[in-house]
Parts: sequence; structure tokens; C-alpha cells
Amino acid sequence: MNYFSTRNTKLNLSFKKIFFKGLSEDGGLFLPNQIPKLSDKELKIFEKYNFQQMSFKIFKYFIGDTFNDNELKKIIDTAYSKFREPNIVDVKILDHISYVQLHHGPTLAFKDIAMQVLGGMYELLLKSENIKINLVTATSGDTGAAAIDAIKDKKNVNIFVLHPHNKISSVQRQLMTTCNAENVFNIAIKGSFDDCQKIVKDMFVDQDFANKINMSGVNSINWARIIAQIVYYFFIYYRFNNSKKPIVVSVPTGNFGDIYAGYVAKQMGLNIKELIVATNQNNILQRCINTGEYKPLDVAESISPSMDIQVASNFERILFYLCNENAEDLKKLMNDLKTKGYFKLSKKQLENLRDHFSASSCSEDETLKIIQNIHKKFDYLIDPHTATGVKPLLDQKYKREECFCFETAHPSKFPAAILKAINLKPELPKNLKLNVNQEEKFIILDNNLEAIKEYISNKI
Ligand SMILES: *Cc1c(COP(=O)(O)O)cnc(C)c1O
Repeated sequence: MNYFSTRNTKLNLSFKKIFFKGLSEDGGLFLPNQIPKLSDKELKIFEKYNFQQMSFKIFKYFIGDTFNDNELKKIIDTAYSKFREPNIVDVKILDHISYVQLHHGPTLAFKDIAMQVLGGMYELLLKSENIKINLVTATSGDTGAAAIDAIKDKKNVNIFVLHPHNKISSVQRQLMTTCNAENVFNIAIKGSFDDCQKIVKDMFVDQDFANKINMSGVNSINWARIIAQIVYYFFIYYRFNNSKKPIVVSVPTGNFGDIYAGYVAKQMGLNIKELIVATNQNNILQRCINTGEYKPLDVAESISPSMDIQVASNFERILFYLCNENAEDLKKLMNDLKTKGYFKLSKKQLENLRDHFSASSCSEDETLKIIQNIHKKFDYLIDPHTATGVKPLLDQKYKREECFCFETAHPSKFPAAILKAINLKPELPKNLKLNVNQEEKFIILDNNLEAIKEYISNKI
């Protein structure tokens, strides 16, 4: 299987190539030239698989001959050996909602599930390639920690993580900045997550710089992350859906990576009835799905900071399909966005979009109330991102559906918000290694592309 870019369908690159590149030079995102459609027989096998076996099977469809079976199996088994839950993902059923705990990895958010696999892939590929690469990534709080944990102390790779200064939770920051590994560099940018993301994107598009430093990316646009995220849609269906009815999945959404994986799972044949894009007050995707207009506004800070995003990068992959896989039409939309500050979907495109997705937006007060209510009613604590995913499922019309809500982070990662909601400080999981008294290592830089390039150049 080979890959092209949403902005240049003539490209024909291997998985290995696009894995290292992350983002295409034309600014587009990579897509496989064919999404495998699984037969009933192939789907049936999943009933017997554990998480690692499912992961192996799904990666096999997408990676060509990049890894042989033994290598892939080892990467996956090593990745998930660090998880606190033996089944990797567990589900808690309360009333009509199944809470999908995606946060049992080393840094308490769903991003570990993909990132630990990517770490193993880099290690193996770089060992045989004999080159040194530099990962540069922007984080709204959780990608950075997950990437650092996956990359720290690995040979032939450095990681530079840009986070918005003072706009992430203290636990999120400490999980990144208390890492002592020589190959880890934390940069706090005086700006928003969108600013951080734009800097990284500009660096990728600057070919001279990207080539000079052997730059690679682990942001949520990296297709390998999407593959790893497809796995748990299959896992919840075959492990936790006893009724075998088509499932409704509500996904706390920022950059549209996690929910996009659900769309791919559906293309592969998984019986998904509805994907709900759950946003906080930064609701550009909700507005787009409801009105057809995609228009970034200023980012508002919230108690669910990992979703404080206005430019949802992975959305471009859906737009490509809405444009009937025509890169020129897609580029027109992206150009409108750049020159006019927004684009508008046609009536037909909007209908197509709504065939797969619905949307919801959750205010700060509603988020706190939901955490409070669930805690009171069930003695169960959820994090603020998860709460935004619960909101739409409380609607009467979902009471008879097979509903899943992704728990994208562990509540202890957001102690200030939890304290505000229930007046208690959440406890970190017992076996988590986080030394809060350890000195933090990070540098604060202006939102200035050249200054950041210089810092990186000097460190490598
Ligand atoms: C990253 C993140 C999200 C958003 O995921 P996307 O793939 O960017 O849509 C939601 N919740 C938490 C806790 C996250 O870390």
C-alpha cells in the first residue's frame, strides 16, 4: 500500500517514507491509496483477538513491507508492556453509556496508545538506517508528554516539544519537563497551541531547514498515529458491545485525529452508526458541521486545554473526501481559508459530512456540572475532556443506543479542574512515576519562527 498527499494525488510514497515525513512538502496530509474493506470473515476473527493482536492485524493492512511480522509484533508488545491495565483499554458501563478508558498508558492520556508504538518504530528504523533525526512537535498538553515518554533515551533521535506557555495544566507540564533524558528539549512558546502548531508546520514546509536537521514529526497528523487509533474502535465493538448493534461513539475532539480514526474504521467495515464530534467552547468543528462554514476564531482557554484548538489539522483528510478526492478543489478550500479567513462547504458536501458525523459543544459550566453529577451519582470520576464527550449522550434520543464515550485522559492530569468541580484533589494512579519535586527543564521563547529554528539548530 502506498500513500499520496491531499494536495497532490500523484505522489506515491511508501509507509516508511510518510512515517518519517509526517506532513507532505506541499502542506497536505498523507492518505493511503486504498482503505482496505474487510470481509465478514476477516471481521469475525476480531472476536477472538486481544488488543495487541488486533493492533498487529490492523497495522499489517497499512505498513507494506516496512517491518516483518516479528519486528511488528515486538514493537507492539513492547509498546503496551508499559500500560497499567492488562487489557490496555477497559470499559466502565454506567447507565446507557460505556466509558472507554484510553488513559492507562505512562502519561495518562489516549495519546500513549499510538505514541508508544511510534517510539518503537523510530528505534527500529533508525537502527538500520544509521541516521540521526530530530522530531519537532507541537502539543496542546498531552502529545508532548506521550512523545517524550516514547522517545526518551532512544538512540539516533532528539525530540523538541513546543507547548503554549502557561496554557497547560501543571501535571501536563511536569510530565514533560521532569524528564532528564539528554535527547529531550521542551520549549514553552509565548502564544497559543495554534501558534505552536503553525511554527511546526512552517518548519516542515521550509525544505532547507527540514532537510538540514533531518526533521520528522509525531503530531496527530502522522498516519501511523491514525492506524494505532483505529484499533480501539474495533476493540470496543468486538469486546464490549454485547448487543452487536451499530455503535455511537462520542469523541472529545481537538485536532480531529482520534475521531478521524473512527471514520477510517467505518470505511474498513466496522458497524459504526454515528461519530459525535464533542468540542469545548472552541467549537469550530461543531459550527462547521451545523452550518457548513469553517471559520477559525480566537482560541479561548478552557479547563479542557488539550482541545483548545481552532485549526483542526486532520479535518483536511475528511475535506479531501468531501471534495470527491480532487486535490485542486481541496486546495481551493484551503486557499479560501488562508485569504478570506474561512471556507464554506456546498450543500452536498455538508450532507455527506453529516452522514458520518454529528457535533456538540460544551461550555465550562456544563463541563464542571457533568463531572459533578457523574461523581455524585456513580462515585466515578472523569476528566474535563471526557465530560465534553458525555454531554451529547445525555440527550434522550441516545438512551436506547449502544453508546460509547472516549475517556481521553485520566482525571488526575487536571487537578485544578477536578478541584473546582467536586472540591477534591484527584489522586494519581498508584504506579505512575511522576516526581513532582523534581526540577523542571524548559526554555521560554517568543512566538517567533526564526528564534525557534535557531534554538533547535544550536542544540543538535
Ligand atoms: C489530544 C486530546 C484530545 C483531542 O484529540 P484529537 O485527536 O486532537 O482530536 C482530547 N482529549 C485529550 C485529553 C487529549 O489529550
